[in-house]
Amino acid sequence: TTRIVLASRPSGKPVAANFRLERETVRDLAEGEVLLQTLYLSLDPYMRGRMDDAKSYAKPVEIGGVMEGDTVAHVARSRNTAFKVGDIVLSHSGWQSYAISDGTGLQKLDPETAPITTALGILGMPGFTAYAGLRNIGKPKAGETLVVAAASGAVGSAVGQMAKIYGARVVGIAGGSKKCHHLRQELGFDVAIDHHSSDFPAQLAAACPNGIDVYFENVGGHVWSAVFPLLNDFARIPVCGLIAHYNETSSVASRRDQLPAVMRAILRKSLTIRGFIQREFADQRPDFYQQAGAWISEGRLKYKEDIVDGLENAPEAFLGLLEGKNFGKLIVRVAP
Ligand code: NDP
Repeated sequence: TTRIVLASRPSGKPVAANFRLERETVRDLAEGEVLLQTLYLSLDPYMRGRMDDAKSYAKPVEIGGVMEGDTVAHVARSRNTAFKVGDIVLSHSGWQSYAISDGTGLQKLDPETAPITTALGILGMPGFTAYAGLRNIGKPKAGETLVVAAASGAVGSAVGQMAKIYGARVVGIAGGSKKCHHLRQELGFDVAIDHHSSDFPAQLAAACPNGIDVYFENVGGHVWSAVFPLLNDFARIPVCGLIAHYNETSSVASRRDQLPAVMRAILRKSLTIRGFIQREFADQRPDFYQQAGAWISEGRLKYKEDIVDGLENAPEAFLGLLEGKNFGKLIVRVAP
């Protein structure tokens, strides 16, 4: 088996040398175990957090440990009566081409119902994150203005389309004209703005003449700074991700302390700013599968996948994700 381990912890921006590719022979199965051959590996921003040895909502990857990640895998051998050879499962077996599992946590997928890669994206964790953040915190109403950044990505593209279905006016923020074109032409966003533009804050203000009622926060940084003054009274801000800050060391963060201004706005405008990790709402997953499945089949919820070939290319693709090089849900095809 081939696997990618964490060779060293990054300081700031991660580099290729933080990862190491290793080869090993697969051992025999014990009773109750299955051998999983990874078909697809999901690459997600949270993996940056797992590379640090800092206190978080999940444990870090150990040095020398296999990088974590959701996978779609094929059961290649089985000594577990619940799984037969050929079954396709959603697993969390990480950045490796084969893994042994005792079956715990494996979820069978039906390739007839939906393409199996969607279990990592629109019909998986990122799609559910969009749904849960809107349903529980953002609560967009018809006619309100919703803004979302990283809008062509796995979470953001679903947020914008779901908000359109709920009747909101949707402003998407993305990096570059190709992504912006996609938001307007393919996904039906009302406005798309390139956050690399020199007059980005002015463009955002012009796109939100009635202010912002829901800001689905995926990014932080200069996007949050542009959004902040435009927030309306009673605006809701699901804090889903802060990708612009994931590579920062704490000393950098403290130099830009906006906290007093933010706290005053929370009071003055009666803002709701609420962080969440999607699994908090796990009991809503059945609703989500049903709803999102229907929206996809009605053509109201579209998705784009960015598929990279070869496990050995996962580190580079992951580094690109942190810089906006992906266009759509980033997935590695591990087995040809
Ligand atoms: P995406 O597919 O959206 O990929 C990340 C995108 O972030 C990049 O393509 C880039 O898009 C954008 N980006 C990166 N750096 C910056 C920056 N400095 N400023 C502005 N934009 C930047 O990833 P996901 O959809 O998987 O994740 C989106 C967010 O949601 C992340 O913050 C992630 O951590 C969070 N998340 C949170 C979950 C939760 O439970 N709370 C669960 C899943 C995801 P562009 O080129 O358009 O700038």
